Amino acid sequence: MASLIPGQPTPIGEHAWRVLARNPGMMTGPGTNSYLFGKDSLTVIDPGPADQEHLQALMHAAESLGKPIDQVIVTHTHRDHSPGALALVASTGARCLGPWVPDDGLQDESWQADRELREGDSVDCGGVALEVIETPGHVGNHLCYLSETGLLFTGDHLIQGSTVVIAPPSGSMQAYFASLRKLQGRGIQLMAPGHGDVIQDPEATLSHTLAHRQKREDKVLGCLCAAAQPLSELVKAVYDDVPAFLHGVAQLSLQAHLIKLAEDGKAKESAEGWAKLV
Ligand SMILES: [Zn+2]
Repeated sequence: MASLIPGQPTPIGEHAWRVLARNPGMMTGPGTNSYLFGKDSLTVIDPGPADQEHLQALMHAAESLGKPIDQVIVTHTHRDHSPGALALVASTGARCLGPWVPDDGLQDESWQADRELREGDSVDCGGVALEVIETPGHVGNHLCYLSETGLLFTGDHLIQGSTVVIAPPSGSMQAYFASLRKLQGRGIQLMAPGHGDVIQDPEATLSHTLAHRQKREDKVLGCLCAAAQPLSELVKAVYDDVPAFLHGVAQLSLQAHLIKLAEDGKAKESAEGWAKLV
């Protein structure tokens, strides 16, 4: 596997290169992956945070490949994925394609698509096509992009080496399960995630992720009882395998699991917290 070095264009598949942004952290792992994709011209997939050095790295990468950047598309509008679009558009005149922006206070409000993308749309990237697949779950406006050769740009739907946070209200565990199942059997050969290295075994990763989420859901159900418990208590039991400093973040996914269980008629919320529905 190629190493993850910020700023350096790394070929990851046919007509596809990765440029890692310089924003490593608890929520971003090694940083956000921006991708350049295209034959005669380049589409930037997830330009990353608004960072001048990263913008320069993307421009240099395109220059070294000898192709102009004429398009920017994003998988979703979290602030580590889309804000770089503004400066990139200013420098290149590229057009922006992508999703609408949910109103949950967690989004990059600067994102504006010249063309809004929907399920089944085809995006021409300098002579090679990407198919748009709506994958709500991590966030309500999440899109994945599938190339003709089976390369899937996954954004934060699936990342390498970690599970993604599902933060309600825009994030939905019910939708996340459905969006994972939706990708099964699609002939995906390779996944290019928003964070971490390429995922070489897409089908196994999808089954593993579904099983992992199901196991966590079962554990949530197992920790619920007839008496209501607050989230801050439940998180300690449900995520006892996760270090305590991550419990604040885990609480978001826990809430998403509980909302799904309520939708499935297995849990209920009251002023005191969450209880099993018996
Ligand atoms: Zn995200």
